Amino acid sequence: MEEKQVFTTGDRVEQMCVKCGEERGHIVASISKKGKITRVSCPIYQSGVTRRTSTKVGAPYDRARTYRRGQTMMHPTFGEGEVTAIIEPGKIDVLFADRMRRLIHANV
Ligand SMILES: [Zn+2]
Repeated sequence: MEEKQVFTTGDRVEQMCVKCGEERGHIVASISKKGKITRVSCPIYQSGVTRRTSTKVGAPYDRARTYRRGQTMMHPTFGEGEVTAIIEPGKIDVLFADRMRRLIHANV
């Protein structure tokens, strides 16, 4: 028995996109009579703006890294933060959106 995937318009489909050049979830926009997807609507392309997240956004916080004053990071819980001070080897003060927090980092 052949398993055939049948799509209908509005379905979400993971497929390679020529518009955004990536394999991601797209919405089926039109289907051929045989049930083949002829067009998908691209969430990236549709949003109009190719909003590239600012390069200022720091890499995810990693305690194994060594941070310097002024470096930015993305903390999984606290969000974006900026290192304001190196307290002592292995400890940094990071200013997050709500308040300052003391984090540990690699002590080199
Ligand atoms: Zn796309």
